[in-house]
Amino acid sequence: MTADSASAATVPAAIPAAATDRVRNLVGGEWVVPAGVATVPTADPATGAELAEVPLSGAADVGAAVAAAGAAQPVWAATSPLDRARALMALREALVAEREALARLVTLDMGKTLADARAEVGRGIESVEAATAIPHLLKGEALTGVARGVDVELLRQPVGVVAAISPFNFPAMIPLWFLPFAIGCGNAIVLKPSEQDPLAAVRIAEIANAVEAIPAGVVNLVNGGRDAVNALLDHPGVDAVSFVGSAATARHVASRAVATGKRFQALGGAKNSLVVMPDAEPAAMVEGVLGSAFGAAGQRCLAGSVAVLVGQPAEQDGALEALVAGARALTVGAGADPATDVCPLIGPASRERVEAEIDAAVAAGARLVLDGRRGGGRGGAELGPTVLDGGPPEGRALREELFGPVLSVLRAPDLNAAIEWANASRYGNAAVIFTADGGAARAFRTRIAAGMVGVNVGVAAPVAWFPFSGWNDSIDGDLHANGRDAVEFYTRKKVVTTRWP
Ligand code: NAD
Repeated sequence: MTADSASAATVPAAIPAAATDRVRNLVGGEWVVPAGVATVPTADPATGAELAEVPLSGAADVGAAVAAAGAAQPVWAATSPLDRARALMALREALVAEREALARLVTLDMGKTLADARAEVGRGIESVEAATAIPHLLKGEALTGVARGVDVELLRQPVGVVAAISPFNFPAMIPLWFLPFAIGCGNAIVLKPSEQDPLAAVRIAEIANAVEAIPAGVVNLVNGGRDAVNALLDHPGVDAVSFVGSAATARHVASRAVATGKRFQALGGAKNSLVVMPDAEPAAMVEGVLGSAFGAAGQRCLAGSVAVLVGQPAEQDGALEALVAGARALTVGAGADPATDVCPLIGPASRERVEAEIDAAVAAGARLVLDGRRGGGRGGAELGPTVLDGGPPEGRALREELFGPVLSVLRAPDLNAAIEWANASRYGNAAVIFTADGGAARAFRTRIAAGMVGVNVGVAAPVAWFPFSGWNDSIDGDLHANGRDAVEFYTRKKVVTTRWP
């Protein structure tokens, strides 16, 4: 038994105390049940079993959390950046102690494999680690003697109260992209996790709330869906909004934030191309493409959902054959089963939506080379790896995000044609090339219109010291999550010009 499987066997996937039966909101350090609002169930995607009821908070519940954040923020902002960094260090230690339990909770509520969930929680902790450098990151600039006796200094101050709205597919990592940098900069935060799987965010909020060095009210959490998001966007006490979700919701959040005068960063959907050159090392290419296309059942914003096969027809056919053989061998099943490669989708409705997309792609002319449909499995949400060859180059299967385990294949005669096609996407999150040729890799990284580029790396997720830097419709706003961008987003600059007589 490996160390991992030993700890997995002993750590149960426990429902957080604040989510037994009904998921509570965290307001000013207290866990409260919103009164008189409708609820939706959150369920285990592998079995369909209901885990808890999630309240759809309204404007009054949002108002209470924003008021608590607003009351706590000035005191927190006056705490020294060194002490805020120490609080983040304590948060990091508490999260590390809970790492396996959090991963198991992600698998239970969202469905992804334990290996994937462990990686997600690791990435979230990495953001906390990056934010512990906050005293360095907050340092300003100074220029002395700009005129006789006149000095100029640039200071960074917190924006105030920050809302962070997260999607279902990374229920632990994305709250942790925002929370540490936001509070590290001296802001208070109101988290609004996805109503489809809020349990990991609730556990993270419990952990943060138990860190003595983080005062009550600095971290708050509101459960809900669209109405809670709109209430946050409309509330005058919210100064900045961090959002991650689909492109359509990102655009809605961006326009409403503009209308209500808030700073925003709204990270949206994606359609990422994986360009396969004929000289790519075959085994590494197949592993990289399959991991990117089918990991988390394709429910990642960095999923490579189009394989652009470059070369002569025989080379393209060879690459396709290898990919289909690899995809066919993947095991579909529950995320908690160590044998599983492809987990269920978030729920049966999602599986039905993706299956309808497969039908539509075939009707539009794509060839169904591998059909992963299997009736949904135990919880109704399973869909196996599916490969579609061709179809209209501007059709939905090749251009739009399907968010399921579907790999569409496009053929291109050469690298130029592949780049040209990829660059015509409305999105620009990630793009990947598999090649043994340094010149091709260099041309690709220079010319490709995407903000995260992989060279022989199937999922090009930057470590947290760099920004998560999608382009085009993959983001509305200018500043990305993580890295220095996060500090720019969560602070306002103040330039002081001084003359002493
Ligand atoms: P979603 O847009 O449905 O939901 C995201 C959040 O917005 C949730 O908290 C939800 O409650 C809220 N919401 C949903 N509809 C709303 C509406 N009409 N008005 C106001 N709020 C609304 O996204 P999802 O399905 O939870 O997540 C998957 C999407 O997120 C995919 O498109 C994926 O590519 C994207 N994503 C992007 C990144 C990135 O970094 N660019 C990272 C992860 C996920």
